[in-house]
Amino acid sequence: MASQERQGKRQRLFVALDLPDKIRDGLTAWGEGELIDPGLRPVRPESLHVTLVFLGHREADEAAAIVEAVRNLSAPPVLMKLEDPISLPRRRRAAVFALPAPSPATTDLHHGLVDKMVTAGLHEDDGRDFWPHVTVARVRQEGRRPRRPTAVTRRPGDLPDPLKEPFYAVRLTLYRSELQPGGARYVPLAQVELS
Ligand code: ATP
Ligand code: MG
Repeated sequence: MASQERQGKRQRLFVALDLPDKIRDGLTAWGEGELIDPGLRPVRPESLHVTLVFLGHREADEAAAIVEAVRNLSAPPVLMKLEDPISLPRRRRAAVFALPAPSPATTDLHHGLVDKMVTAGLHEDDGRDFWPHVTVARVRQEGRRPRRPTAVTRRPGDLPDPLKEPFYAVRLTLYRSELQPGGARYVPLAQVELS
């Protein structure tokens, strides 16, 4: 897949809400103190986001149509808030740490976006429940076949109160995700200011 991506044939795409700089900076400062277990791979500050729709690998022509569709979107600012970190999967060794981001406006935006994409023939709804969240760290893998997440003993502590205040997401971005051993890089392809 990686070589296909390099040849420009298929692109791994997702639409996300970007966080205001103030929130990103706050999360970065929090992470410097809390995402310190050596088994953790913190998400880069510039990569912090709330995924709205994961579109998966797409051919170049489909990707071009998706870019066009996202450029033509409009939506109001989205009120959201963050909660203390939890690990996933539940009841098994942590593989990911994420901040739940419960927000009716985000859920509405997700459904509206899915409807538009499905109607335009650009997406198939997988029917799964939408769970808005910000992934803050992934757990490194250990062993080989079966690989499993390394044990995290220093789990991230709670967020400071100011980071749990509601805020507005101000931008929606279509990203291309370039998978790399050290963590994916996200390249913005289209952006919509929410106003
Ligand atoms: P890596 O998978 O290498 O750890 P990543 O998860 O940052 O990197 P992607 O897998 O490309 O990069 O995911 C991009 C975004 O889409 C992330 O927010 C991820 O949580 C989300 N995502 C990935 N796969 C799915 C899926 N099947 N359903 C819903 N969201 C997904
Ligand atoms: Mg992933």
